[in-house]
Amino acid sequence: MTPDETSSNRVLVVDDDVQLISEYLRCLGEDFEPANATTTLSDLEKVLFGDDADERGAARFEVHSRNRGEAAVAAVEEAVRAGKPYSIVFLDIRMPPGMDGIEAARRIRALDANVNIVIVTGSLSPEPENLGKEIPPADRIFFFKKPFHAVECRQLAAALCGKWHADLALRHANDVLEQRVWERTEALHKLAYFDPVTGLPNRLRLTDEFDRVIHEGNGSGRETLLVLLDIERFSFLNETMGYDSGTELLKAIGRRLSRTFDDHGSDTGVTVSRFGADEFACLIPQVKDHASLQELVERIKTTVEEPFLINGRDLFLKAALGAAWYPTHGENAKTVFRCAEAALHRSMRRPDNGITYYHNEMLISARHRFELETELRQAIEHKEIIAHFQPQLCLKTGRLAGAEALARWRRPDGTILLPAEFIPLSEDMGISDVLFEAVLRRVCESVRRWHDECQWNIPVSVNLSPHQLRNHDLVSLIQKVLEENEVDRKLINLELTETVLLEDLTIARPVLHDLSRFGVGVHIDDFGTGYSSLSYLAELPVHTLKIDQSFIERLTESKTNERVVQAIVALGKAMQLQVIAEGIETEQQLLLVNEFGCDLAQGFFLGKPMAEKDFLGWCDAVAESTNKHAVLPFVAGRER
Ligand code: C2E
Ligand code: MG
Ligand code: MG
Repeated sequence: MTPDETSSNRVLVVDDDVQLISEYLRCLGEDFEPANATTTLSDLEKVLFGDDADERGAARFEVHSRNRGEAAVAAVEEAVRAGKPYSIVFLDIRMPPGMDGIEAARRIRALDANVNIVIVTGSLSPEPENLGKEIPPADRIFFFKKPFHAVECRQLAAALCGKWHADLALRHANDVLEQRVWERTEALHKLAYFDPVTGLPNRLRLTDEFDRVIHEGNGSGRETLLVLLDIERFSFLNETMGYDSGTELLKAIGRRLSRTFDDHGSDTGVTVSRFGADEFACLIPQVKDHASLQELVERIKTTVEEPFLINGRDLFLKAALGAAWYPTHGENAKTVFRCAEAALHRSMRRPDNGITYYHNEMLISARHRFELETELRQAIEHKEIIAHFQPQLCLKTGRLAGAEALARWRRPDGTILLPAEFIPLSEDMGISDVLFEAVLRRVCESVRRWHDECQWNIPVSVNLSPHQLRNHDLVSLIQKVLEENEVDRKLINLELTETVLLEDLTIARPVLHDLSRFGVGVHIDDFGTGYSSLSYLAELPVHTLKIDQSFIERLTESKTNERVVQAIVALGKAMQLQVIAEGIETEQQLLLVNEFGCDLAQGFFLGKPMAEKDFLGWCDAVAESTNKHAVLPFVAGRER
């Protein structure tokens, strides 16, 4: 409600009779004194106008007059434009030769929906009840019979001005309410459909948008591309940089992705969405051909992998991408989404975290997978999951110092499957705990047997899956299996790959502390492949670093590679950790890691992973041939 609207009771009187205009001005004037003023009138005015009434209770009107219909319409138009609308227009019905009152009323109503129009007439034609229908709304049009009494006129004006103000207040209240409802709806809509961090559409909104695009673009013959991307190790970055920087980074990724498509030049725009913690999606309609499709996906990857400047630091990200498109891969958003997700997961499992385009073979492999899943469940039950043992030798003494247990699936037909063929599957199926328990049991049974049969106490390392870190009962599970087999805790080590460890330190940290407190050793596997920050090492209860095979493989290629391994060994030593070199395939590699000061060595050159029987046979043979368990040539002359 603007001040102008509330300030006064503006009344327009329209009559071609000059005398009648004077009568209006008199009876609506400030100093109007009715010959027999009734208390009713002044009371009514007081009730209706409150502060707008003067001390005698008389209402104050601002009265304007016109003597033609056309002039009346123009006056109303001007009043509305100036934001000072009239509360009442008194309109004479007949003003020849110009526009009559009914026509003027019609035009006035079109200009101002709220003004009270009073048709002033000597006869009752047209029918009063029809007038409301002709010039609605019916509650804002009135008949007033001529000749009128001055008091009657003033009473009517007072009542209608009061009504006009009450209507205005009601409209204002409604507007406020409507605005509030709109704002709340908007806020709810935002919550339901948008990601609060980046302001980007969420998964729900993206799927809606996808359906809309499909609906509108049907028959265009063009593809709609959906690309999903996952930022590698975002949670680790988030934790090491601080959550504020993590949020900044997410926003920056969103902004950059959105900008990438500024030049896509399609009518239906590109939708960039954040649909998971570190997962983004780009929905690109109207893609011309497969070459453009590929170009777009590659552009997304390059965009995200260009450095981000966050808090003065350059951050280099790696992204895994999965792409699928409509209509090739599905008839609706949901199906295409599922295909893109399958492609994304395939990328996330690949070591290079590259791009995967969904293809129908993935469906076939999904079917194959289903069969494998059923078989794997049975395999665990039927004890087909066994452990092979690979020796680890002490470089100082040349003796066997331990073994790594590596899971194998020995199928009834005698074929042996390697971990890569069933460990990721077990993780996807959510049964990696069961699988881990099966391997740990096999290992504990062997360790127990070796102890019982030949008082042989050799530590064995067992690999942990990333999912195991989320199992709150991990320590009690290990405790249960060890106790059932009466195995000393000191004889079991657990290996965790560095990348997995760093994926989510908040989760890994307490688990590692629990394991260490319980008394088993914690080894970091494939060390050197993770993030370059090493500060986490100091605060974790880790006993051993296993240098990743890739460093050993490249060791003899250049001096630089040698220096990298030397540096890793030095780092381990500085932190008083045991260092194992794995993947030793040649004598030259063995000599070098020995020279650099590694503690233990493991690799095909020394011994392959073997079934228990072969492993024991290997140990015996080595013990016999090298005299007192020493198997390394260079330790022959050393003191033992
Ligand atoms: P890892 O823990 O790094 O194990 C070492 C892998 O390198 C083993 O492959 C081993 O056979 C192989 N290897 C050993 N010496 C050499 C060598 O001189 N040269 C080369 N090229 N390779 C060598 P494997 O058995 O196929 O296991 C692969 C990975 O699967 C393991 O890597 C480990 O991460 C995982 N894994 C194995 N067993 C289990 C298990 O019981 N549970 C879980 N969660 N993961 C397991
Ligand atoms: Mg390992
Ligand atoms: Mg390894």
